[in-house]
Amino acid sequence: MSTIRLEPCVSIDFDSSTLDEIVTKAKDWALMHGVCVMRSRQNFSPDSINFAPFVLVPSAFPKKEFEKAIELQTLVNEMIHRIANNYEFLKSTLAITNTVDPFTAQLFKIYTTVQEEGVSQEECCCGLFRCDYMLDRDAVRQVEINTIASSFAGICTRVTRLHKFVMQELSHGDKLQQIPENNALEALCGGMLKAWEIYNQPQAVILFIIEETTYIFCDQIFHEFEIRKQNPNVRVIRRNLTQLGRGGASLDAEKKLIVDGHEVAVIYFRCGYAPDQYMSADGCEWDARLMMERSKAIKCPSISYHLAGTKKVQQVLADPGNLERIFDDPDKVARLRDVFTGLYSLDLDEEGDRAAEMAIQNPDKYVLKPQREGGGNNVYGEEVGEVLKQLKGNPERASYILMDVIKPPLLQNWMVRPSTQPMRVDTLSELGIFGVIIGTAKEILHNSVGGHMLRTKIHTANEGGVAAGIGALDSPFLVDL
Ligand code: ADP
Ligand code: MG
Repeated sequence: MSTIRLEPCVSIDFDSSTLDEIVTKAKDWALMHGVCVMRSRQNFSPDSINFAPFVLVPSAFPKKEFEKAIELQTLVNEMIHRIANNYEFLKSTLAITNTVDPFTAQLFKIYTTVQEEGVSQEECCCGLFRCDYMLDRDAVRQVEINTIASSFAGICTRVTRLHKFVMQELSHGDKLQQIPENNALEALCGGMLKAWEIYNQPQAVILFIIEETTYIFCDQIFHEFEIRKQNPNVRVIRRNLTQLGRGGASLDAEKKLIVDGHEVAVIYFRCGYAPDQYMSADGCEWDARLMMERSKAIKCPSISYHLAGTKKVQQVLADPGNLERIFDDPDKVARLRDVFTGLYSLDLDEEGDRAAEMAIQNPDKYVLKPQREGGGNNVYGEEVGEVLKQLKGNPERASYILMDVIKPPLLQNWMVRPSTQPMRVDTLSELGIFGVIIGTAKEILHNSVGGHMLRTKIHTANEGGVAAGIGALDSPFLVDL
């Protein structure tokens, strides 16, 4: 199968002085408008920032597929909401995973504990999701759904503006309408503020759960500024899980969560999705998570939304008949299934053996994924076969899922990074669509699409983490193919 190529949105054949000038202007714009990350982990300083890696011009993206992903988002939100409120579905789906993956098991234990203590039917949850897609030839396919700590809503809205500025500087101001507006930050913060209003206690705060030192701090901090902007009466406080678990938080008799004298209305998790964020020997971070889940504060996300976003759930949904357990409406099932790609269980049974054998024969066609979030955990290429051979007959194989590799079209662009010369490279992109949902077990109170992000990487890189330094921020430039 030959690789498809997309044409850059404008010519990128610059002479060296033009390139120099435009790159300098773009970097200045990025720094002055917060398209930034904390300085690299090696020379981390809370007092200085770098611009985040970006591509010089926006990447061409098929308009029809962009619009399809946007239109699908409220249905994706509803799907996660329904799964999260279906205890039996989550229990049966994660049963085997829980026996081999201690992290998922621990999350599930908190979920079960709270369920057994009796969650009120009126209790509200808030989901701030990001559904990621790649183009498979010319159609979008779902990579994964992030239901916790979905990042880049803050920075990507600025990248849209950066690219509009660059296009104007390149005398292509006539093409700006092909770069769609992006309101991701406004939408996500608007969601948190709606949740805050539902909680209905004017003095209560929004608590951000953050990592101790956050490289992508700049993205998260925009959320705090935006909340103040949208509602000047709302205070944000920031704590890490360890602080909360070591006496920094308490529950009162009415299950109000109290942090340093503040009643908490809404908890926004930007941390808590990876095992290394729960490292204290005494388990205090887990104590904090349980306490928050028990509290009446509105969680973004609840532990049930968190679990509904696991890779095992994604894989099981792709199996025939399972989406039908979530939706009666065949039209909804068909629209969702349309963006799924091949996903396979690796449980220690006949079906799992068949999938493993298939991948051992053709390792380049598959990605092997453990139940982890946050990038850098997946296995690609030859290594897929090697890992699966090692796991033969081992129950731990079930802690992974297998997925068809998606092969997006290639596109040339200039990649701009701090302290290096711009590089002209073949790239490929991943589109993220944000979604906001608020609801109780009984009803959905709010459901909306919330903007987008595009991440672009050098085509030879397996993963495109911007924080990890191999990805670059981008904006879609919509084209009719
Ligand atoms: P994580 O939760 O770690 O972000 P993802 O499922 O999003 O896990 O995978 C991380 C990255 O790996 C993606 O952003 C994408 O670049 C790449 N990737 C994941 N699945 C596929 C796939 N099926 N085909 C091609 N690349 C993939
Ligand atoms: Mg991802």
